[in-house]
Amino acid sequence: MVQKVYVTYNDVHKLCKDSAEKILKDFKPELIIAIGGGGYIPARILRSFLKQPNGKNISIQAIGLSLYENLGTGEPEETPGTEVVRLQWLDFSSEAINHLIGKNILIVDEVDDTRTTLQYAVQELEKDVKEQAAKLGRSEKTNFSIFVLHNKDKEKRGKLPEEIVDSRYLAARTTKDVWVCYPWEAIDIEEHDRLAAEQPQGIIA
Ligand code: 5GP
Repeated sequence: MVQKVYVTYNDVHKLCKDSAEKILKDFKPELIIAIGGGGYIPARILRSFLKQPNGKNISIQAIGLSLYENLGTGEPEETPGTEVVRLQWLDFSSEAINHLIGKNILIVDEVDDTRTTLQYAVQELEKDVKEQAAKLGRSEKTNFSIFVLHNKDKEKRGKLPEEIVDSRYLAARTTKDVWVCYPWEAIDIEEHDRLAAEQPQGIIA
């Protein structure tokens, strides 16, 4: 049985707050791409902390990815998927997408587990943006960086470009190989918060 760890909305808020300064200094994001569903709420919270006085809000684009669960019918914590399925993607037929070219783009997700999803997102976004730039005859480099709330300290199936791993990747917390229960998945939020309050302090750190 995988150990479950409960994270509250306030925990998520504080993790975003604590990471914002480093993200601003190191990545200087001009646009956020949230991986849904888990990246949506962290991305929105983070945006508030990234806003500079008198500056504009950074816009958030969304992509929807899901790990296809082809290993059985158990709970997600027991049957991680292996194949990424695109549920939603950026609209490369729209003019708006050209604004991505040459920008610093921050990809946000809630958790880096096997890294399969992040590998897919970076690989495909880099490819699509490069193709779009080539079509338009533009040569500016688009930089991707990654923010996750939790990174599980384990062997990763997915691989990321070295440049990202070395200097463009931030996890607010590194955890053991536990199952993190996020508040937006809770059916009974009072019960979720009670379980979070009852667990040993600092269990996730
Ligand atoms: P990956 O294995 O590709 O890194 O993670 C894929 C997805 O599986 C994550 O975006 C997340 O939706 C889900 N996932 C993996 N580990 C956890 C976890 O500990 N808790 C929750 N709630 N979801 C997880």
